[in-house]
Amino acid sequence: MEKEIIVQKFGGSSVANIDRIKNVAQRVVAYKNKHTDIAVVVSALGDTTDELEALALGLSKTPPEREMDMLLSTGEQISCALLAIAIKELGYDAISFTGSQVGIKTDKTHTKARIMTIDGKRINRAFKENKIVIVAGYQGVTANDEITTLGRGGSDLTAVALAQALKAKVCEIYTDVDGIYTTDPRIVKEARKIKTITFEEMLEMASLGAQVMQARSIEVAKRFNIPLHVRSSFSKEEGTMITKENEKLEEIAVRGITCNKNEAKITICSVPDKPGIAAKIFEEISKQGINVDTIVQNVPHDKLSDISFTVPKGDFNKAIKATTAIGNRIKAGEILEDRNIARVSLVGSGMRSHSGIAAKMFSTLADNHINIEMISTSEISVSCIIAQDSADKAVRSLHKAFKLEQP
Ligand code: ADP
Ligand code: ASP
Ligand code: MG
Repeated sequence: MEKEIIVQKFGGSSVANIDRIKNVAQRVVAYKNKHTDIAVVVSALGDTTDELEALALGLSKTPPEREMDMLLSTGEQISCALLAIAIKELGYDAISFTGSQVGIKTDKTHTKARIMTIDGKRINRAFKENKIVIVAGYQGVTANDEITTLGRGGSDLTAVALAQALKAKVCEIYTDVDGIYTTDPRIVKEARKIKTITFEEMLEMASLGAQVMQARSIEVAKRFNIPLHVRSSFSKEEGTMITKENEKLEEIAVRGITCNKNEAKITICSVPDKPGIAAKIFEEISKQGINVDTIVQNVPHDKLSDISFTVPKGDFNKAIKATTAIGNRIKAGEILEDRNIARVSLVGSGMRSHSGIAAKMFSTLADNHINIEMISTSEISVSCIIAQDSADKAVRSLHKAFKLEQP
């Protein structure tokens, strides 16, 4: 009989300390039997990645990205070794590997590398020896043996990519909440657990800041149709299934609300209003590998206009450097920085066929005296950039206005 393979990923909070690592070890071995092989992907312990990053930022505002990858990848190396030790202590055979050891090959984009291929040979060999395999999440290696990381939250991507490479039957994502909620349950206590959600909606929620899953991991799951089960590492309860189709006949207008406090706004004032200028600015920024999000250009006056855009906070210093350089070259005015912003978004595939969602969002924010600084939309979402201090209030009032607490 062919053995079944399952992939289980445990996030940072699930392995935050020794007791939690023991808990994970027990959960893993409970699944192991002679018909099942298990590949476990782990994140770094608790907030280790943030702490390592803070150490580097204490030395440099823009630390070299190659060295950041050398540094940040160590977090997962610690947790995978500790979990292997804990599993062996329970009397099961286990072996830990780094991304490079199991042949997770990536491109050269340090700090947000893309996985090119995974060579499952070493894992399959370990499976043949009946070992539970523990893989360090969030990392890979280039063709030139340089260590890379896969962007924050990248252990989710390691898990999904491994599930695809190993043809796993199940990919389970264990975290500190028992599934995907209508919004972050830390912000809204009435948030409701969603039983099933489509890849499309989850991808949109993740891209717009629902921290619970890394957006790129959902992209891969969607491309290869790998159903994901997001569940709690602290309870046995069923979590949320992320799949291709939804069981509901009609699509729901607003499925969830997201809040992203990890963006910052840059404004270049008094930009000469002539063709080609926007191209010059954004070419310069994209050359640095920075993803610009919402862009707003004001109505020009005296042949000058202001251009504002948002970037991930992690790229802020790099973006300011690039913007200042291009600003000088095109003879623009002041560069303004605003880190106190948040993106609040409504997501739902039913938005395609329901009208009035954006209007209701704007009026709810207005009723709560929350000023909208920027607006952007997609087919299945509406986002507003607002002051970060008002973000939680905005999410709570929108959750209520759209009655998301009701099934
Ligand atoms: P892990 O360490 O397991 O990767 P994360 O901290 O990355 O966990 O993600 C889990 C957290 O995501 C939860 O504690 C929750 O506060 C937050 N979160 C944000 N939006 C949602 C949502 N819509 N549903 C569930 N959790 C969410
Ligand atoms: N440890 C990395 C991070 O904090 C990767 C992960 O947890 O998925 O972003
Ligand atoms: Mg995570």
